[in-house]
Amino acid sequence: MQKAFKNVLKQLEKASSIADVDNEVIEILKVPDRIIQVKVPVRMDDGRLEIFKGYRVQHNNWSGPYKGGLRYFHLVNLDEVKALAFWMTIKCAVVDIPMGGGKGGIAVDPKKLSEDEILKLTRSFTRALSDNIGAKIDIPAPDVYTNPQIMECITDEYSKIKCREDLAVVTGKPMKKGGCHGRDRATAMGGYFVLEELMKKLKKNPSQVRIAIQGFGNAGGVMADLCFDKGYQVVAVSDSKGGIYSEKALDISKVKQYKEEEGTVVGFQKTKEITNEELLELNVDILILAALENQVTQSNASKVKAKYILELANGPTTPSADEILFSKGIEVIPDVLANAGGVVVSYFEWKQNLEKKHWEEDKVFKKLKKIMTRAFDKVYEIRSQKKTNLRTAAFVLAIERLQRKWRERTKSEEL
Ligand code: NAD
Repeated sequence: MQKAFKNVLKQLEKASSIADVDNEVIEILKVPDRIIQVKVPVRMDDGRLEIFKGYRVQHNNWSGPYKGGLRYFHLVNLDEVKALAFWMTIKCAVVDIPMGGGKGGIAVDPKKLSEDEILKLTRSFTRALSDNIGAKIDIPAPDVYTNPQIMECITDEYSKIKCREDLAVVTGKPMKKGGCHGRDRATAMGGYFVLEELMKKLKKNPSQVRIAIQGFGNAGGVMADLCFDKGYQVVAVSDSKGGIYSEKALDISKVKQYKEEEGTVVGFQKTKEITNEELLELNVDILILAALENQVTQSNASKVKAKYILELANGPTTPSADEILFSKGIEVIPDVLANAGGVVVSYFEWKQNLEKKHWEEDKVFKKLKKIMTRAFDKVYEIRSQKKTNLRTAAFVLAIERLQRKWRERTKSEEL
């Protein structure tokens, strides 16, 4: 994600020009609290010692401990991690949970490592970060190419170092190791609750709504399932190998089965093969972005025909594309709102771990729905008041909330 942090600053500046927030709060938010860069030595299976670069950026903790995923990906770099940590601060403030923003990762291609090497890499990274993470300090979670097993491994290594079991040091753990029901579907579920609210406002019936979804993984695949189950017309989906389109709605359960067998959605019966670029330009009501960053840009935004874009991915629309979409009357339901379900359920997991409780899935989704609905309504209200787009409205809501936290904290202190 090139220049991602520059995009973040543009988004922040745009919101600060219409928010009721002191300039000094904005200046503080422009810089992360702490940047941690570590070496991650690993003894590889062939006996060589390889040294990887690991990062953790702690952006802001006015609302609570830093919170955010760990990414294992060869393109991980400091600029990207800083941007993602910042978005976590905004996201947690939009949904109003007592968590701050953090993010981390290792520049590594996990597909080139054995399972054993990935676990050794994770233990080595945990040792390097052990003084900087903790249930009340900074709580990592899974992100791109990290999973519940890796979270279990961090908990285990961290507990060994601290000589006590500390389940709440990470979230996204397997169920038998302190995980939370529904965490695997939380991001899509949160996005779905937001979509439902939008439909209520538009007084639309799901059967009248045509949807295209880019990305068919954890976020996009589950979202496709939810939309299909509720009667939306999902007419196109895609993965890294390409996309499929059908004039008539796709049977998502069959597409899923096909993907499991073939490793891609491409080639599914009676569909037209399309590229990922073509999917973005389809004549649909809603375009759901659930794959990568920087998909809708200055060069293709004017070709988007959907009336609404819902961002399950982080940073899929660039600031210049946002301007073009706004001028065309296309509304973007931004990542900091639409994909916040993941961090909300992570917060539930942390809370259950600390209180030694266990919630059933019904309770998790009921609470998630309440939080997502409240956040959506508030963002929508600010958008109408300020006559801006939903992303800027979400940022305004977040930075005004953050200012209140900052004032409470600094009431009795001098900076
Ligand atoms: P994933 O790896 O499960 O799925 C990613 C999907 O995108 C796969 O289907 C993959 O084939 C597809 N893809 C990859 N390259 C593509 C390309 N060039 N064009 C089209 N599709 C492509 O990942 P995920 O967890 O679903 O995450 C997807 C996005 O959602 C990421 O931006 C992630 O940061 C964001 N997100 C995920 C969560 C979560 O809880 N999973 C939470 C918040 C945000």
